[in-house]
Order: sequence, then structure tokens, then C-alpha cells
Amino acid sequence: GIRLSGKVAFVTGGSRGIGAAICQAFADEGATVVLTYGGSKDKAEAVAAAINAKGGKAEAVSCDARKAGETTKVMREAAEKHGRIDILVNNAGIAREVTLRKMTDEDWNDVMAVNVTAPFEAIRLAANIMEPGGSIITVGSILGDRAPSPGLGSYCASKAAVQMLTKAAARELGRKGLRANVIQPGPIDTDMNPADGETADLQRMMVPLGRYGKADEIASVAVFLASDEASFVTGTTIDVAGGLTA
Ligand code: NDP
Repeated sequence: GIRLSGKVAFVTGGSRGIGAAICQAFADEGATVVLTYGGSKDKAEAVAAAINAKGGKAEAVSCDARKAGETTKVMREAAEKHGRIDILVNNAGIAREVTLRKMTDEDWNDVMAVNVTAPFEAIRLAANIMEPGGSIITVGSILGDRAPSPGLGSYCASKAAVQMLTKAAARELGRKGLRANVIQPGPIDTDMNPADGETADLQRMMVPLGRYGKADEIASVAVFLASDEASFVTGTTIDVAGGLTA
């Protein structure tokens, strides 16, 4: 693949799930990939090693997105080392399933720190250092537009927030030649939402295609948004949800 050749990508949460699939797909298209991990050092290094073994270019770097300033610091280091960042993917995310009555400050703050503040830090730095042609992709969720079951308040609020943050970025950065878009996955088979989990059958029932999506099916859309094929696509949200939002 050559759709991303010569580009440098910074992908948060590349150790597992959707992020790992995005890193692999970007590398297959010729990008140099810097992927971050929070807790899963070994898995992150395995993702990078698998890419490098296939002749791609990737490195894993530690970056706990819960810590204020950490994302800015690590992304800046990556930009200095590689001379540029052309593609930013805000993928790292967490969910804390708890009803509002029982939600602790910590539950709320952790979700906001990882899902909203870290993407904000990354987008702010991207706005200052990215060159024309740059692409910012944020992995939101279809739960940024709806709250279909109890216990998802902080998660839904965080995904609504990054959706609007990304639209605001598109509005402000268009004249700089930068694009910013959101991918909103539906049920995707990962550690966060396994296809054999407790509510999996219920989720499948809501999906017209009748199944969970695969991480690769998010990655292919991320490749499109990162590439020059999407050169007139900005400020938009793409649901990749098997029709759930129809
Ligand atoms: P996983 O739980 O499988 O993976 C989460 C990723 O985020 C891991 O790489 C993890 O890295 C990283 N991460 C979590 N906390 C931190 C942290 N504090 N610092 C740095 N990295 C962190 O989830 P998915 O792959 O399913 O989710 C990826 C994105 O997709 C998330 O934003 C999620 O909200 C979104 N999404 C997922 C859906 C699904 O059905 N799976 C549906 C809709 C949206 P590490 O283990 O190294 O900490």
C-alpha cells in the first residue's frame, strides 16, 4: 500500500483493539507510526514489532492519557524525533459503567481525562505544529449521540464532547489546510466490548447487519480519512456501526 507513504502518524491507545488495527493498517499503507500505550507495554511493543517485522515502521511509547500534560509531552517528542506529524488519531478510550447516582468523582474524572482532555491536548498541539494536508481523526462512539442504556452517562458525555471538539477544530483549522473528523463505531469486538459479552446479543439485535464489527472495519475508514482521498472531508462524523444508527 502507498496511500499514506511518507506520512508520520501518532495513534493513542495502539496497544490493543481498534487502535492496534489502525496502526497496522496505517503501516501497511506506508506510514511511520508512533503508537502510545497506558498499561499494556508488552502488547504495544508486540504491535510495533509485528509492523517492523513486515517491513513497516512503528514504535511504541508510554503515555498515560489520565495524566494532564502527558499527551502533549509525548506527542511533542514524537514530532521532534520524526520531524513532523501528519496524522493524529485520538483513539485511547475508557468506559466506567456506573449509574449517575453512584458515580464517584474519580469515575467521572478518569473518563473525562482519557476520552476528552487527552484528545484536547493532542488537537491543540496538532493545531500548532501540523502542516497543510494534515488529518486529525478522533474515535468517538455512536454513544456520543444517544444513551441507550443506564450506566453510560460519563462515557456518552465524553463522546459527545469529542465530537463537538473535533467539529470546532475543523472550523478553526480549515484555512490552515488541516482536516478533522470523527469516527463513531458501533459494537466492535474488542476487550472493551467483546462479541461474547453479557449484552452482546442485545447489541447484535440492534445492528441491521446482525453482527459485531471488527477492528479492521474501523481501521479501513481511518485510512480513508487519513489519506488524500478524503481531501474534501472535514468537520464530519462517520458512523461505522453496521446500520445501528439508521
Ligand atoms: P480497548 O479497551 O480494547 O482498548 C483501549 C485502548 O485504549 C488500549 O490500547 C488502551 O491502552 C488505551 N488506553 C486506555 N486507557 C489509557 C490510558 N490511560 N492511557 C493511554 N492509553 C489508554 O478498546 P477499543 O479498542 O474497543 O476502543 C478504542 C476506542 O474506540 C475507544 O475510544 C472507545 O471508546 C471507542 N469505541 C469502541 C467501541 C467498541 O464497541 N469496542 C464502540 C464505540 C467506540 P493500554 O491497555 O495500554 O492502557
